[in-house]
Amino acid sequence: MSTLDSSVDVLRELPEENEPVKADHLDCPPPDDSQAEPPLRVMALHALLYCERLFYLEEVEEIRVADAAVYAGRRLHVEAVSPDDETPEQRSLEVSSERWGLFGKVDAVRRRDGAWVAIEHKRGRCRRDGDGHPQPWRSDRIQAVAYAVLLEEGLAEPVPQARVRYHADGVTAFVEIDEAARRDLHAAVQRARELRRSTMRPPVAENENLCPRCSLALVCLPEEERLAHEEFAIHPEPLPEGEGGGVKHEPPRLFPARREQQTLHIVSPRAHLGRSGAALLLTNEDEKQKIPVEQIDSVVVHGYGQVSTQAIHLCAQHGVAVQWFTMGGKFAAGTASSPGRVQQRIRQYTGLADPAMRLGLARRLVEAKIETQRRYVLRASRDEVAYRAWCRPRLDQVRGVLADVPKAESAATLLGLEGTAARAYFDCLRVLIDSGLPEELRPDGRNRRPPRDRFNCLLSFGYALLQSLVHRALLAVGLEPALGFYHQPRTAAPPLVLDLMELFRTLLWDIPLIGSLNRGQWDPAADFSVTPGQVWLSDAGRRKAIELFEQRLTESYQHPHTGQSLSYARIVELEARLLEKEWTGCPGLFARLRLR
Ligand code: SF4
Repeated sequence: MSTLDSSVDVLRELPEENEPVKADHLDCPPPDDSQAEPPLRVMALHALLYCERLFYLEEVEEIRVADAAVYAGRRLHVEAVSPDDETPEQRSLEVSSERWGLFGKVDAVRRRDGAWVAIEHKRGRCRRDGDGHPQPWRSDRIQAVAYAVLLEEGLAEPVPQARVRYHADGVTAFVEIDEAARRDLHAAVQRARELRRSTMRPPVAENENLCPRCSLALVCLPEEERLAHEEFAIHPEPLPEGEGGGVKHEPPRLFPARREQQTLHIVSPRAHLGRSGAALLLTNEDEKQKIPVEQIDSVVVHGYGQVSTQAIHLCAQHGVAVQWFTMGGKFAAGTASSPGRVQQRIRQYTGLADPAMRLGLARRLVEAKIETQRRYVLRASRDEVAYRAWCRPRLDQVRGVLADVPKAESAATLLGLEGTAARAYFDCLRVLIDSGLPEELRPDGRNRRPPRDRFNCLLSFGYALLQSLVHRALLAVGLEPALGFYHQPRTAAPPLVLDLMELFRTLLWDIPLIGSLNRGQWDPAADFSVTPGQVWLSDAGRRKAIELFEQRLTESYQHPHTGQSLSYARIVELEARLLEKEWTGCPGLFARLRLR
C-alpha cells in the first residue's frame, strides 16, 4: 500500500465535524497480479466503463485527443475548485495504491458525519432512476468508487460514501462504497488489464449515442465501421445527457468535414523559421510574420529555407510535422513525432505480412486508380471528334485492363497492368486541353526524373506536394510509412506513402492542374526555369502550384462510402484511417474512392 503522505497530512489538518470512524477491515481483495502490472490511471477506468474501445485507444494505443469537451471539463474543474469557495475541503488530491495498481487525482475530499467523502465534479447531467432520483453514470460511479477506495487505503479508515456532483442540473448523486462497489472495481481493473494485454481493438460501442460525445470519434470512425456492417440500428430510447443522451437519433457525422489547420509552405531560400514563445516566427528579407503553432498542421520547406532547432522543438511538442523537399520537389527528410503506439504498429506488421492481404489491397488500389482515370477522361473530353478518334480506343484498352486487375496474381502483374493503363491515360490528356494553349504547355506523354517539359514539371511538383500530404496523414494516423503493400522500398519515398498516393493523383492534382491550364493560369516563361534536358518551376511557378494544390484541398467531395461531404484534405486522412481498418477488424472500406 502507498499513498502520498503529504496529501494525507493535509487531510488530517482539516476541521473534523465528528470523530472519525475506525476501519475494521478493507474487505475486498485487490487484483491478484497487481505487482506485475504497470499502474492504471483511475481516469482510464472511467474510459473503460464508457466504452472499451475508448479505453483501448487511449491506454494501449496511446492516442489522446484534447477536444473541446475535454478542455471544457478541465475548465470546470478549475472553476469548481476555485480558491473563492471556502468550504472546508481538500481539492485535487493525489491518491494511489500499489495493491490496486491504481493512481489518480480526486477532485475534492471532505468530512461528513465523521467520515471522509470523495467528491467528483462533472459538467453534464446525472442519470435518473425509475423514481426520478439522481444516479451516477456507470463510468462516473466507478471513478468515484476507485477514488474512495484509494483514499480509504491511504487513510486506513473507511470512506463509506463518494459523491458525484453534476453541474448541468445542479444535483449530487451518492455512491455507497460497499462490497458490491469493491467487487465492481475489482472487475473493472481485471478487465482493463485483459484489454491492455490484447493486440486487437475492441469493437465499436453498441450504443451509438455514446460516440458524438467521445473525444476519439475522429480516430475511431465508428459510423464508417457501422455502415460497413449495416448496423445503423437506432437506439430505441434516448439516453439522458451525460452518457450519450440528448442527441438526435440519426447517423451522426463524427469525422470533421473541414480541415482546421493550414500547412505552412516555405518557398524562399532566404526565409528563416524561428520560435517566439509559443509561436513560430517566419522571417523573409525584412518581413516578419508571427504564426501561432496551433494554427498549422505541418511545415513544408521547399529548397533551402532555414528552420531553427527551437522551431523544430516547438513543432514536435505540438505534433506539427516538418518536411524538407528539394527545389525539384523530391522528398528529402521529415520529422515524425508519433512515439509509442506499439500495438498499432504490431498490427500493421502482422496484417501486411500476409501476402493475401497485400495482394487484395493492391488490386483494389489499382482498380480505384484506373477507374478514376478512365472516368476523368470520359467526363472531361472537350472535342467529340478527337475523343472518338484518339481516346475511345485507348479507353477500350483500359476497360480490358480493369477486367484483368481482380485476376492479377502478383504485384508485378498489377504493375504491368497499371503501366498499360497509365500510358493510355496520359496519351488521352492532350484531348482534355484547350486547343488555344501554348504548345510548350501541352502534354505529350509522361516523363520524369527529371521532367523534360513544362507539363511534366507541373505534374511532378504536384505529386511531390501530394506525397508530402499523404506522408503526414499516415504519421498522424500512427501508421509506419515504410511498410507498404504494393510499392517496393526503392527510393527515399516510403512505400506506404506511394501506395496511398495512387488513390489521389488524378483527384487532387491532375484535375485541378488541367483546369488551371485551360484557364490560362500558367506563363510558359515566368513560371518555369528551363535548362538543357530538364525543366523546373521558378519561384513564382512554385508559389502558384502550391496555391492551386492548397485550394484543391479545401474543396469538398462526397465520399462514396460514408456519403459525407468532406474536404479533400480530410478525405486523405479518412482513407488512411480506413486503410488501418483493413487489419483492425473492419476490412473492405479502403479504396472505394472514385471520381463519380
Ligand atoms: S467513438 Fe464510440 S465506439 Fe469509438 S471509442 Fe468513442 S465511444 Fe467508443
